Amino acid sequence: MKKIFIVVIILLAAITFAGAQKYVFLFIGDGMGQADIDLYEAFLAEKDGKDGFVQSNISKIPLLSMCSTECKNRRITDSGAAGSAIACGQKFNVGEISYSEEGSQPKSIAKFAKEKGMKVGIISTAPMNHATPAAFYANQPTRKNYYQIGLQLPESNFDFFGGGGLLKQTGNKKEEKDLMTIYQEAGYLTFTSTKAISSLKSHNTKVIFTNETIERDASMPYKIDREDSPNSSLAEIVATAIAHLDNPKGFFMMVEGGKIDYAAHDNDAATMLGEMEDFDEAVAEAYKFYLQHRDETLIIITADHETGGVSLGIADNGYESDFGILAKQKMSMTKFASIIKKQTKNEENVSLKDYSDMASKYFMGVDMDFSSDEMAILNEAFADINVKNNRAKSEIKSKYNGINPMAYAYCQIMNRKASVGFSTNAHTCAKVPVYAVGTTTPILDNTEIFGVIKSFIEK
Ligand SMILES: [Zn+2]
Repeated sequence: MKKIFIVVIILLAAITFAGAQKYVFLFIGDGMGQADIDLYEAFLAEKDGKDGFVQSNISKIPLLSMCSTECKNRRITDSGAAGSAIACGQKFNVGEISYSEEGSQPKSIAKFAKEKGMKVGIISTAPMNHATPAAFYANQPTRKNYYQIGLQLPESNFDFFGGGGLLKQTGNKKEEKDLMTIYQEAGYLTFTSTKAISSLKSHNTKVIFTNETIERDASMPYKIDREDSPNSSLAEIVATAIAHLDNPKGFFMMVEGGKIDYAAHDNDAATMLGEMEDFDEAVAEAYKFYLQHRDETLIIITADHETGGVSLGIADNGYESDFGILAKQKMSMTKFASIIKKQTKNEENVSLKDYSDMASKYFMGVDMDFSSDEMAILNEAFADINVKNNRAKSEIKSKYNGINPMAYAYCQIMNRKASVGFSTNAHTCAKVPVYAVGTTTPILDNTEIFGVIKSFIEK
């Protein structure tokens, strides 16, 4: 009798315990509109010589709804206001980080999860104190308060931070205490290899993973540029975080593909597709986990806003497309621009042929025989790059989004050959998709994500 009683107690405890297990993955593709996902799937197909679209890991998860992204004071939002709306379930003004103009500092869903005893991971290819990750652990009147945001990171006591580095790591005047030192003093172990985290004996340690190679803007290098230096992929970071955070009380993980937005701002389609691939492979890691914990896992994949006004097809090419050609682009446009800068430094008369030789060697990966329309793009950029007048120079700067006009022109030619169009270098207010498993509640506005996650973890 006593034995049966003990067995029943153990069984009941096991059921209660299992019921308390909750796993939440929130994926945010920064700037990722539905067209980016469509383009990525068409690109996968064309790369393999197939018609139509090849299903991505993202769209293996059902499309739940389309979601509006406008913020409190503007229809076209930024990552600060949008990330905060997702994190806290209410609208904010442009640039605010989970901090309203009246001074209220609402609690993010990540903090709710932490209070419930779940472990929390915040991952991004952008810097750790960039707007989107910041919205989940900090409260600041402006996203530009990078150092202050950084100071709030250890206050969150979250268990895993991973991806990019830190902006203004020693303050605006470089006179403040190094944020990394502060994190170490607060008990965080810091790593630059995911392998080292996996070999940790205890998972009860708080860790910060910074990718071994970090760009000058403290972000991870674009996937397209990662080959030649030691790097982790977003998928590796997510897999490492899952292993580190998995525990009987569950976890909440926010994963941002932060540089889909950067590449879309630059209208650099090939680089954007690399970021989509990186993000999509990270989603696959969560999906694998979901298949093992079906009834206990919520995955939401969305974007904070659309960037670039991306179109699949351009008028000049009629109904023709060759998205697969973008696989031939050798590096990001910004990396190519930095090569041009280095190679033309102190050079007086750089000819169009010199630029074409550089493009052929480092960037294009396609036939350098240009059509008259493509030559017109190059000639215009060549005229612009040689302008000496300062006022015209500032107009040119905005025309090429601050990037070297020649690099920009060669990239535009790649987009054109592929038939990818961009309508802006900025954000748009196009609605963004929400893919989800673990909920069937339609999410029609970004503020509703908070409630869906909260009711899931409180179930
Ligand atoms: Zn942006």
